Amino acid sequence: IRILAIETSCDETSVAIVEDGQRILSNVVSSQIDIHKRFGGVVPEVASRKHVEGINYILEEALQEANLSLDEIDAIAVTYGPGLIGALLVGLSAAKAIAFAKGIPLIGVHHIAGHIYANQLVTPMKFPLIALVVSGGHTELVYMRDHLEFEVLGETRDDAAGEAYDKVARALHLPYPGGPHIDRLAKQGKPIIPLPRALMDEPYDFSFSGLKSAVINTLHNAARRSEVIKKEDMAASFQEAVVDVLVEKTFRAIVDKDIKHLVLAGGVAANSELRRRLTEKANELDVSLTIPPLSLCTDNAAMIASVAYYAYIKGKWSQLDLNSIASLPLSTNN
Ligand code: ATP
Ligand code: MG
Ligand code: FE
Repeated sequence: IRILAIETSCDETSVAIVEDGQRILSNVVSSQIDIHKRFGGVVPEVASRKHVEGINYILEEALQEANLSLDEIDAIAVTYGPGLIGALLVGLSAAKAIAFAKGIPLIGVHHIAGHIYANQLVTPMKFPLIALVVSGGHTELVYMRDHLEFEVLGETRDDAAGEAYDKVARALHLPYPGGPHIDRLAKQGKPIIPLPRALMDEPYDFSFSGLKSAVINTLHNAARRSEVIKKEDMAASFQEAVVDVLVEKTFRAIVDKDIKHLVLAGGVAANSELRRRLTEKANELDVSLTIPPLSLCTDNAAMIASVAYYAYIKGKWSQLDLNSIASLPLSTNN
């Protein structure tokens, strides 16, 4: 089964073709980061327009790279939420047009399910598993009993981990997106600045906005007293605080539920310290850990095609009146 998927939920326009949910025939990703950089974040209206300009070319490129025509595609998958509503609509309209014209099934996919299924493109997932999803807009611990069965155990009550990285980076005058810059600086600093670890008494929920405020307050107070705080030390201290909480809660869920498989998902999965600490702890507890390569951690359509394959074989097809939904909780009913 060959599925062509379209992903336009944020600032990446992507089209991919994947066979049987696992074999990537093409995965073209066009990032708009350079356009949004100067605004310090994604400008939704600009993102929608760029998707409209690019979608046809990227579709063409994905077909060419796979050496296929639309007649050789079995179904069209598309991210229908969550994300920027205008951006989602561009991909959804394109997907509907192709599905209608070719008379093939349309399959709407949840974006976060996609991030989790980036792991399926690496090695077949084994169930039951825990997925730690850490992206620009989400921080969630998800329990999966089987394919497409999602139970959100805990999530952030305010900022996502990636969002906290980006906001702290801005306070440190680093370019957008800030995650990779903090990661790099942290390696040259020491985690000597005291910062809070929030909600440690709550089982699985997260909170990162207090941590972000603590960083900003510490920087302001130091500036007022003309003290110098090394950016490297702040980066290392912040990163340690984030990773401490993520690792603690992830393995709390793993131990509580007696799980043997862990998968990591979302852009923050690129973080070197998070990878190192999760690997260390997984080895210690004899838990298998899968981490997708960087190119599959951030937004791409191949991960959407992978989810769609399992929806396809279960007969979970969408109707052509499918709508995009800006905030769509992850559940088995997606
Ligand atoms: P969502 O999937 O929740 O809608 P998104 O798709 O915008 O959000 P991703 O593309 O998955 O998010 O991830 C982007 C985030 O990952 C950014 O916040 C970025 O700063 C962060 N990030 C990327 N690399 C690193 C890194 N090495 N360390 C920490 N954070 C990182
Ligand atoms: Mg992005
Ligand atoms: Fe994403």
